[in-house]
Amino acid sequence: MLVLLKRGVSEAATRDVATRLQMFGLSVHRTDHAGQVRLGAVGEPGGVDWTRISQWPDVESVAEIPVPFKLVSRTFQPHDTVISVGRCAIGSRQLAIMAGPCSVEGEEQAFTIASAVARAGATVLRGGAYKPRTSPYSFQGLGEEGLKLLRRAADAHGLAVVSEVMDAQQVGLVARYADILQVGARNMQNFSLLKEVGHAAKPVLLKRGLAATIEEWLMSAEHIRSQGNAQVILCERGIRTFETYTRNTLDLNAIPVVKELSHLPVIVDPSHGTGIRNKVGPMARASIAAGADGLIIEVHHDPDHALSDGAQSLYPDQFSELMEQIRTIAGVLGRQV
Ligand code: PEP
Ligand code: MN
Repeated sequence: MLVLLKRGVSEAATRDVATRLQMFGLSVHRTDHAGQVRLGAVGEPGGVDWTRISQWPDVESVAEIPVPFKLVSRTFQPHDTVISVGRCAIGSRQLAIMAGPCSVEGEEQAFTIASAVARAGATVLRGGAYKPRTSPYSFQGLGEEGLKLLRRAADAHGLAVVSEVMDAQQVGLVARYADILQVGARNMQNFSLLKEVGHAAKPVLLKRGLAATIEEWLMSAEHIRSQGNAQVILCERGIRTFETYTRNTLDLNAIPVVKELSHLPVIVDPSHGTGIRNKVGPMARASIAAGADGLIIEVHHDPDHALSDGAQSLYPDQFSELMEQIRTIAGVLGRQV
């Protein structure tokens, strides 16, 4: 339920209303919008007399949140969530551009790519140190060593870091090095991981599952938000369809749909969304045109020898040219890179 408080209600009175709602067994979350306190009371225990509550002196009104993803919905919070990471305000007029290798492979590789993407205008360096690979015989990532390299390469070029965390036990370790915790497509419904990143003090990049509906994806975001972490960034990365020409089918419909349903920022990963180098640019441009708040793109200086996803990685020059095009498109839409 959404409990709207009267304008000008004191902090003490706000706390008092929240405490009384908690006494019904509800969990209470707050957002302030247009000078008004909005409380999301979730975990409906049944038997709560909402008509009575709507008559409490500090309460203006009570309304149902008509979707299952309560706290990430626009009904609870009408305004966009903006997440500050390094030099980037994700979800603002400024586009968030994250780029880097699929996997961190070594010092020279990490520093070379960090330098190239920073020069082209990215503000966040991506790179996996723990890799979810379909085959157990493929490169599994450098682990903590990879995180250390990624952090040093990013710091050397004024970039923030996003890196994947694969299980709940790893959250503390990855959070020590990364500014954004990535939950991969294969883990979108790993509920113990969602709970753990929900307690972390770092933003979470939640990728859409390979076969997840938009509602399931938003419910996973709700798992994180309901644990107290309000800094969730959604990432469309393509879904599995009957089409096999591309690695996945990038669902650009999801951008305007999610922007309407949720206040969370939405970025797009056209690298995994297409799986084909020369299809990344067109879909990156289309994503921004469709209203995405940013991009996450795989870039490698020597993709033929990349230990993962070389075929979908852009050369630094291609990334740089794409950034120029993105700047132009952003300008048309009143946004900046
Ligand atoms: C990745 O970003 O390298 C990755 C593994 O992505 P996804 O979880 O979307 O497949
Ligand atoms: Mn990859």
